[in-house]
Amino acid sequence: MENIISYFESIPSVHRALILSGGIALFWLIESAYPFFKFQYNKWQHAGINLFFTLTTIVINFALAFILLQSADFVTTHKFGILNWLPKFNLWIYTIIGLLLLDFFGAYLAHFVEHKVKFLWRFHLIHHTDTYIDTTSGNRHHPGESVIRFIFTTFGVLIVGCPMWMVFLYQTLSVVATQFTHANICLPKKFDKYLSYFMVSPDMHKIHHHYQLPYTDSNYGNIFSIWDRIFGTFLYLEREKIIYGVDTHMNPEENNRLKNLLKIPFQKPRSAQNV
Ligand SMILES: [Zn+2]
Ligand SMILES: [Zn+2]
Repeated sequence: MENIISYFESIPSVHRALILSGGIALFWLIESAYPFFKFQYNKWQHAGINLFFTLTTIVINFALAFILLQSADFVTTHKFGILNWLPKFNLWIYTIIGLLLLDFFGAYLAHFVEHKVKFLWRFHLIHHTDTYIDTTSGNRHHPGESVIRFIFTTFGVLIVGCPMWMVFLYQTLSVVATQFTHANICLPKKFDKYLSYFMVSPDMHKIHHHYQLPYTDSNYGNIFSIWDRIFGTFLYLEREKIIYGVDTHMNPEENNRLKNLLKIPFQKPRSAQNV
């Protein structure tokens, strides 16, 4: 465990970039060989849009990283936050509790609020407009959403009292988990189901990408599925019945054009009746 901590304390940016691009490359190969949905799409054009949003997410997180570093420094120096208020645990248990709490405050709660607050939904909507979910969809976040998510992550670090190595560890696991849950693959149904008892499985997250309510407003989890189970936001839909997208933006002229996707948060909000 000490080795893991010392690695993540000073993980080089180039390693983070390699994990991100290596993960996409790996899942890209697997989903090309064994695709679940046989999409009739231009994979490179689709990836171009999603990788643009991945790049803007990286730039924003890189530019704001000093805030996260200062927050982690603050909680460590001042013994602030839940982890610092709990009694001393074995390092493994301490790490698992920290990752679970960060997953709740920084990811599950952020995602839930993005669906419930209309102003935030305008930005998060872009993630849902994708009608061809594959591994590149994982980081399809409007730059506005990347800022919103960054604020929640910082809030999570402060509440949980995370040291920086734990934040880096969480973010690394999150990148790979996101690529995995979005990849156009299917695991054996039973295996996916058992996995979804403790982790967000590919089927579980894809139900979140079904184009209609109530499924769009379910399965908010990022890495761990426990939060959806506890808060009653877990829903199940047969994988064959899933239709990707969001019912307000099913027109490819809108959901598959980068320029329009960037503008959506500033357009008049719609209800599903306008489809
Ligand atoms: Zn969502
Ligand atoms: Zn998603």
